[in-house]
Amino acid sequence: MSNSTIHNAEILCIGTELLLGDIVNTNAAYLSQKLASIGVGVYRQTVVGDNAERLKDALAEAFSRADLVITSGGLGPTYDDLTKETVAAYFGRAMHMDEGVLSEIERYFTLRYGDVCRMTANNRKQALVPDDAIVLKNPNGTAPGIVLEGENGKIAILLPGPPREFEPMVDNEVLPYLAGRRGEVFFSRNIHIMGMGESAVENELKELMESSQNPTVAPYAKDGECRLRITARATDETRAAAMCDEIVEKIYQTAVGEHIYGVDVEKIEKALVLALGAKGLTLSCAESCTGGLIAKRITDIAGASAVFAGGVVTYTNEMKEKLLGVKRETLAAYSAVSEQVAAEMAEGVRTRLGTDIGISTTGYAGPSESGDEKNPVGTVYIGISTAKGTQVTRFSFSGMRSREYIRTLAAGRALLLAFRKIM
Ligand code: ATP
Ligand code: MG
Repeated sequence: MSNSTIHNAEILCIGTELLLGDIVNTNAAYLSQKLASIGVGVYRQTVVGDNAERLKDALAEAFSRADLVITSGGLGPTYDDLTKETVAAYFGRAMHMDEGVLSEIERYFTLRYGDVCRMTANNRKQALVPDDAIVLKNPNGTAPGIVLEGENGKIAILLPGPPREFEPMVDNEVLPYLAGRRGEVFFSRNIHIMGMGESAVENELKELMESSQNPTVAPYAKDGECRLRITARATDETRAAAMCDEIVEKIYQTAVGEHIYGVDVEKIEKALVLALGAKGLTLSCAESCTGGLIAKRITDIAGASAVFAGGVVTYTNEMKEKLLGVKRETLAAYSAVSEQVAAEMAEGVRTRLGTDIGISTTGYAGPSESGDEKNPVGTVYIGISTAKGTQVTRFSFSGMRSREYIRTLAAGRALLLAFRKIM
């Protein structure tokens, strides 16, 4: 294998369904992002139908411009699956039956179907491999991926169409192959940010993101939080990790820093459970509008039992009084969705369950309730109580799409507030 650098790549997706608009070309989007993350520029994306002539032309055109062409689709067992034959012909390679691939396919069939469904002759066709090709593993399907390296430095990588096969192959086979060609490995860290939106994060880090080629810094939003994926390429993992950590440190020094709840921790509830454990603190929660979501998310984390006593869902005023000791006068004077009630709920659950910290939520998740004048739909009060006192924060998620989304955001904010309280 030579160590030549790949200057530019093109993506060629094969499938009449794509041209008809029956399916969306998610493979191209996925692959483009991943290639960008390792510094391989994608110059074009092309789509052709399941037609040998047009595929042949598109391939020749792509190679007239690019060093690397990655294809998606048309590796299946049926007559309209033409990619392998067409690309092999372009490279002037004959095909042979690959015994290793054949036994992998047989194993896949036996595992999946037992005696119910036998392999057909068509499936044997999937074990045909062009001469001098590199075979890429596909644990989620029968068609393996194929890499062809031409004498002229051109490289073709052929991948199957179904995204559940395609995407893991990009991550586990293609990217390491490309890095390996350069004698490099790559390594990523994820920075988790809450309480600062994606665009604000981008704004703050614009310069850093634009100037960073290696490591790359890529933001993305997910479930009401923002993440930054830092990816470094280097000759070994230790070096790549050190490069990532340097950028992570830099980002901690910016205005984003105070909104970072963890690096590579995946979820706020995980960060919270770990932090509680490290500090020897315990937690309980009293939920109204989040209906148990907070308790659910905390108990999703293995080891939560050491720090989480329990939670109550108190939906009616009566239950807020009975189970949490919220005062009737408070409810009457301020209504259930109020700072005062949130405070009494948090304090009540903390003292009754005997924990260091108590969390509460009360709000209007909509869409049918109308809220009240002061508190429209989307208003949520979150209380955090400790022995030192109780604080309530008012959030306004109005204009947010749905009841579910408002509840998800409210639970996330509550977990974040509890986390911040103990840090
Ligand atoms: P199979 O063995 O399933 O035939 P294949 O490699 O021949 O795999 P295609 O037949 O081209 O792939 O596509 C199979 C399915 O994969 C399509 O029906 C579609 O659902 C999905 N698919 C194909 N190409 C894409 C793409 N570019 N983006 C997203 N999904 C795709
Ligand atoms: Mg097919």
